[in-house]
Amino acid sequence: MNLIFLGPPGAGKGTLAGKVVELLQIPQISTGNIFRAAMASGSELGNKVKAIVESGKLVDDDTTIALVKERLTQADVAKGYILDGFPRTIPQAEALEKWTIEVGNPISHVINFDISDDKVLQRLGGRLVCKKCGYNWHKTFNPPSKAGVCDKCGGEVYTRPDDSEESIKKRLEVYRNQTEPLIGFYRGKGLLVDIDANPEVDQMFVNFKEALNLL
Ligand code: ADP
Ligand code: ZN
Repeated sequence: MNLIFLGPPGAGKGTLAGKVVELLQIPQISTGNIFRAAMASGSELGNKVKAIVESGKLVDDDTTIALVKERLTQADVAKGYILDGFPRTIPQAEALEKWTIEVGNPISHVINFDISDDKVLQRLGGRLVCKKCGYNWHKTFNPPSKAGVCDKCGGEVYTRPDDSEESIKKRLEVYRNQTEPLIGFYRGKGLLVDIDANPEVDQMFVNFKEALNLL
């Protein structure tokens, strides 16, 4: 099953992907995680995208498309994959459609995370991320038992630079202008599956399985 997770920042795409990876035994491909890893390693790509990512704007389509295309040639995607955070623009969606159809392995479903702006602001406002394993904690709703330390792996837990109030507003605006048009694009192709992303992750996981008849 080749899945796309589509939704605003803070909708819980990454968190749900963690559960679906275990359920379906397929990899999660998160462009945000790939960019953050590149930034942390100080690679050429990382240095190129750092200022853009931290401001909450989108990395250019050519760079992003080339990166995902390369990732989709790796052997572990043979049984399927979850694209988390890609595509985010119509040109990205068109490029993806072109290759997946060319190789005869098209997208199966696009999961549309339906969530209110209030909920997004609440989640991102207190989000804490583990630098080592990427797990998402939250200051109020899901705090690590020892401040600053990940319970899962002992890694350092921090607030992403793009989770500042200013960047969150920018990311929501970018989502509305550039990414939301993908909902119509995929609905028109009959690929869209809406799930209610307002509840917490366990309920969202049930909603997901129900929507795809996986229960
Ligand atoms: P969130 O969904 O919480 O906004 P992500 O981790 O998916 O965050 O992405 C973080 C940042 O990485 C984005 O704000 C953007 O700068 C960059 N990015 C991720 N995916 C893409 C993409 N498909 N196209 C362009 N930029 C991207
Ligand atoms: Zn961790």
